[in-house]
Amino acid sequence: MNYDVVIIGAGPGGYVAAIRASQLGLKVAVIEREHLGGICLNWGCIPTKALLRSAEILRYMKHAKEFGLSADNVSFSLEEIVKRSRAVSKQLSGGVGGLLKKNKIDVIDGSGSLKGKGQVEVTTKDGKKSIVSGKHIILATGARARVLPNMEPDGKFIWSYREALVPTEMPKKLLVMGSGAIGIEFASFYNTLGAEVTIVELLPNIMPVEDLEISAFAKKSFEKQGMNILTSTKVLGIKKNSSTVTVSLEDATGKKFDIEVDKVISAVGIVANIENIGIENTKIKVEKGHIVVDEFSATAETGVYAIGDITEGPWLAHKASHEAIICVEKIAGLNPHTMNKSMIPGCTYAHPQVASVGLTEQKAKELGRNVKIGKFPFLANGKAIALGETEGLIKVIFDAKTGELLGAHMIGAEVTEMIQGYVVGMNLETTEAELMHTVFAHPTLSEMMHEAVLNAFGRTIHF
Ligand SMILES: Cc1cc2nc3c(=O)[nH]c(=O)nc-3n(C[C@H](O)[C@H](O)[C@H](O)COP(=O)(O)OP(=O)(O)OC[C@H]3O[C@@H](n4cnc5c(N)ncnc54)[C@H](O)[C@@H]3O)c2cc1C
Repeated sequence: MNYDVVIIGAGPGGYVAAIRASQLGLKVAVIEREHLGGICLNWGCIPTKALLRSAEILRYMKHAKEFGLSADNVSFSLEEIVKRSRAVSKQLSGGVGGLLKKNKIDVIDGSGSLKGKGQVEVTTKDGKKSIVSGKHIILATGARARVLPNMEPDGKFIWSYREALVPTEMPKKLLVMGSGAIGIEFASFYNTLGAEVTIVELLPNIMPVEDLEISAFAKKSFEKQGMNILTSTKVLGIKKNSSTVTVSLEDATGKKFDIEVDKVISAVGIVANIENIGIENTKIKVEKGHIVVDEFSATAETGVYAIGDITEGPWLAHKASHEAIICVEKIAGLNPHTMNKSMIPGCTYAHPQVASVGLTEQKAKELGRNVKIGKFPFLANGKAIALGETEGLIKVIFDAKTGELLGAHMIGAEVTEMIQGYVVGMNLETTEAELMHTVFAHPTLSEMMHEAVLNAFGRTIHF
């Protein structure tokens, strides 16, 4: 049981680290207590997208007439929707198992905990303990849902994302606490399936990390779909009745009021899994609940690294995987590029989708940047009209002096796919001139990416 690299946790941080280490000729073991693929594949990114796909198809069917089609008496089975989502997760988790095997990585079932220099103690479910040794140890134990006091998920009235992913009955009235990506995706799913949804957000804007204009666009769109959105509103408490819950709220003016619903989804952030992994007797530092690392993911304890959700955000799967590669390449003696966190894209797969990278208009101005802003609406794009997807906006932010692309913000159909075009551009330190010179295929939604750039410099063609 002697390895070059021992990894604790097999999420998108841990399993990617394992594969890259094996590619580089290192002997690797990964210790996992629950499921290969981590939260992302089993209880996060993937099963939510599977649920949202069912909702999307339902929405298309309800609009069949607009496309000259008929789909009468459209209905759904929640059980079958959940079954499909779980099957998709299972397939991908199995796929990770196959990849680890192919790369000759030892997978050890159990919970891992640091046990002195170069050693990890593994405890299996039935309590058996063993020691695994590694020259390098990577902590990749991820995170779990944040729980607010007296609002603990009980599986019946209050759901965390885990329960919200496997409902056995449709809530008639649902309140979602928190309007980050997770809260918004669940709100969108249940709203499309017919639940009466209220979103409560403490801050003045929903999706608080997004550009204010995109956030306002999203709010308007969700309200048009029937959602009730309460911003600058605090949840004071939840009282459980026999078959409903009464949620006490307070708005920005101090006005208190109650809403009665049958389910509450708590989506108020995450907490890193830093307990019971043996960091207490090490030099490892923790700040704001997350492990402190350098740009190559090294902790303050020599030979111990941390990647993914247990470290500082953004708490996204692609950030975890990218950190994994940089960390392992450094361990192997290569000279990897460090990650520029300002170029990590963020996506929310609601209807409409939201995607962004780089600085928001507000942030750019706060930083004193003199900006040029370009916008293009979906309603002026031929492909969007043909698709029947005319609700959306693309917004780009350039440095007025240098023409550097500082940020891109999108809302509308397929923007979670399109954002990558701007991400590549930003990584190549592109300017407006190069983007204007790029030929975009017609008819595509991505033509709007071109038009938004042209718009920033007064050259829009189609609007
Ligand atoms: C509902 C939801 C939707 C999401 N959607 C997206 C999305 O669309 N896009 C996106 O980028 N991100 C999304 N995320 C976030 C994403 O899931 C995480 O950022 C990502 O999973 C982090 O990867 P990780 O490897 O750090 O940790 P995790 O995926 O949490 O994996 C950690 C693994 O470590 C294991 N583990 C923990 N402790 C131990 C131990 N002591 N011993 C052994 N094993 C241990 C756990 O069982 C787990 O398998 C979503 C999250 C949620 C909850």
